[in-house]
Amino acid sequence: MTEPIPTPARSNLVGASRAELAQLLAELDPRPFRAEQVYQWLTRRMAGGVAEMTNLPKALREGLAARAEVRDPEIVETRRGSDGTAKLALGFADGAVVEAVAMPMEGHTTICLSSQTGCAVGCVFCVTGVLGAGRNLTGAEIFGQYRAVLRHEGLVGAPVNVVFMGMGEPLLNVAGVARAVELIAETVSPKRVTVSTSGIVPGIAKLAALERRPKLAVSLNATTQAQRERLMPAASHWPLAELLAVLRAFPLERGRRITFEYVMLAGINDSDDDARRLPRLLKGIPCKVNLIPLNPDERYLGGLAAPDETRISAFAGILAAAHMNVTVRWSKGREVAAACGQLRGQIALRPPASP
Ligand code: SAH
Ligand code: SF4
Repeated sequence: MTEPIPTPARSNLVGASRAELAQLLAELDPRPFRAEQVYQWLTRRMAGGVAEMTNLPKALREGLAARAEVRDPEIVETRRGSDGTAKLALGFADGAVVEAVAMPMEGHTTICLSSQTGCAVGCVFCVTGVLGAGRNLTGAEIFGQYRAVLRHEGLVGAPVNVVFMGMGEPLLNVAGVARAVELIAETVSPKRVTVSTSGIVPGIAKLAALERRPKLAVSLNATTQAQRERLMPAASHWPLAELLAVLRAFPLERGRRITFEYVMLAGINDSDDDARRLPRLLKGIPCKVNLIPLNPDERYLGGLAAPDETRISAFAGILAAAHMNVTVRWSKGREVAAACGQLRGQIALRPPASP
């Protein structure tokens, strides 16, 4: 009996750069405009397959389809909230699942993407962090996630903002995130893309060196080093002083500011003293502060609660009196567990960590 001949796995066109496409097409049609056409189909029109690339000659489409395919992650679950928020779970070939969120805003939709399948930073107020580390998504996987969300939600060609505020720490995966930002930049200007970091100093320096930089948001969440280490264990590698120094040196395009996110935890980091320390810490950095009342999760974040509205207003008032630009983020998507810190990827499979 003869063994079946294994068919070689076809490569994935999603995530390819112009140069990689040119290389793939070299034997079929080496003219540069052909690679550009394919690139546009993948990054702008979000084609779901080679057959859709109708401005390529049939023979070229057949040749290309024999060598490569268009493969996005599979949407394995969709949940919709009454505020229009859609949370999508996306599955990859190795079984990893991440979550992405689409939030309708005024005049655009904000797409929140994951950069890793878990998070090693381990913040005590974040479900992703409580569940622990995962692996980096490749640039192609992140871009595939973006394409899958746009296609599924009917948003191809629609105005969108992109935020890397889903699962994972984007600046522990700078290579993957930078490739995805470059591909997304084909349709969304980097000034409409925000990377949120827990404060990975070497990652911030790498982001600063990118030619087309997205906006930077930093999750501060505490006003002293000791408090920050308790809340964000891995962030203890980079002391506040070092973090603030790299942020003071971060190149800001005209009109841009750094956003500081501050998750508010009742009785932990919401005191008047905290509020008074913040402006002193951030002095000299063009910035705005985004207060995020904790999104609770009984199962994974038991014991932690958001302050009441009076406390949040008093805290915000102290910042405003110190001439800080401050906003409160009342998170969308809470009812479908799609709000900040509620993403976990593995749909109802993992038990909570033992106390
Ligand atoms: N890892 C990155 C990006 C993902 S988290 C970061 O930490 O910045 C995105 C934002 O959600 C962060 O500002 C984080 O502080 C916040 N967040 C995490 N858990 C939260 C929760 N349970 N409630 C409200 N915000 C939360
Ligand atoms: Fe990771 Fe951000 Fe969650 Fe902290 S808040 S555990 S850095 S995803």
